[in-house]
Amino acid sequence: MEDNPLPSFIKSGIYQLNLTAVFIDPVRLLNRSYTRFRVSPSTYYSRFFDSTNSTQSTNSTQSPKASEDSRKRKRKQKKKNKVQSLNEREQIADRRHQEVKPFLLKAHEALLEATDILKVLRNLRNDGCVVRECKELSKESSELSLMELGGVWQAPMYEIVLNYYHDDKTFQNEGFPLAHSIEQRVTPVFNNLVANEGNDDIEAELFNHKYIIPKRSCFYMSDLQQIDSLIPADSDCGFNLIVIDPPWENGSARQKVRYPTLPNRYFLSLPVKELCHTSGALLALWVTNREKLRDFVENDLFPKWGVTYAASFYWLKVKANGILTGELDLFHHRPYECLLLGYCKGKDTHSGKLARMNPIPDNRVFISVPGDYSRKPPIGELLLDYVPGPIPARCVELFAREMIAGWTSWGNEPLHFQDSRYFVSK
Ligand code: SAM
Repeated sequence: MEDNPLPSFIKSGIYQLNLTAVFIDPVRLLNRSYTRFRVSPSTYYSRFFDSTNSTQSTNSTQSPKASEDSRKRKRKQKKKNKVQSLNEREQIADRRHQEVKPFLLKAHEALLEATDILKVLRNLRNDGCVVRECKELSKESSELSLMELGGVWQAPMYEIVLNYYHDDKTFQNEGFPLAHSIEQRVTPVFNNLVANEGNDDIEAELFNHKYIIPKRSCFYMSDLQQIDSLIPADSDCGFNLIVIDPPWENGSARQKVRYPTLPNRYFLSLPVKELCHTSGALLALWVTNREKLRDFVENDLFPKWGVTYAASFYWLKVKANGILTGELDLFHHRPYECLLLGYCKGKDTHSGKLARMNPIPDNRVFISVPGDYSRKPPIGELLLDYVPGPIPARCVELFAREMIAGWTSWGNEPLHFQDSRYFVSK
């Protein structure tokens, strides 16, 4: 481990807390995909930085460590009251939780001891912003519903305009200001692979809305019914890192209706094997803490996809003051989520090859302050060491709502968080 990991965190957005836990700032990680724009921290961190929280973090007489101790006491008490009333499935879930809890607590303790990163954490929302830029995302400003747009019969005719800026340096040395020219490319926005192959991010226009497209990235916006169009003709052009965050059915997603959910059986038909690179792929699947779902993934989904389970990573969620976003032992609202990792064999993967890969450590924990509802932190980089096949890895995110340099994003709204209202210009 580095002596002082702070300077490298400032650049990379990743802070190694100990051998098994890291703190990440998704804004810094995402900003590595942009040269002309940057992600606005105030719009990314739309929750857990409200005035009550920030007052707590700056004025509270109790240190984060002391309040964590009092929370631990409450947790113990709650657990005592709870355990007898759990049904069989909940008991299995509770056992799973008890197994992972020491890793989560150890990671959280490491964060609370890292005073340098705690200071940075409190200011993440205002990082590098001038006041003008840090205003709240206007609640009134309308957002284009990409899902609705993609569902109408005219959808195949809708086009997106990609604006490429070129610097004209011809007269720069003669004292003239740098001139720019804009090249426009127009292409269908739905059921079409739209790519920015350039080394700069670009602005795109769709129905008077502006979207920022990262450098060297592409998206395919379609319904699940058209996902087969993403399958490469040749598996050498397949993906060797596949991240999936399915719209699982669950009470809270239904309540908040931010996006439509799908019954589990729909995910059985995802063409994971067909998307896989010739030399195999590492697959990372976000799951909820419901035991019924874990059971479905282990016994139905992974076998159907041809995926062999390898390890579990955990995303632990904290507020701006370093405290967990909820009680660790609260049964239905755990302040952590699980990322299941597994390997998918490619056409040419002979059995010994994947076995020789860097073994994936189990129970790694990454800690961050959550962004918008259901928005996952960009964890691709934490997985790269375990990806089989060519370097740089060919990466795809399924059911994506944002884009990242070097990745293909597929889903019915991969442009959602690319809306220019989530960005500020550099
Ligand atoms: N990982 C994303 C993030 O961090 O923001 C969140 C993904 S969210 C859990 C699931 C996504 O799947 C939503 O964007 C939802 O609109 C999309 N989705 C739901 N039904 C779909 C369908 N039939 N076809 C394609 N995408 C769908």
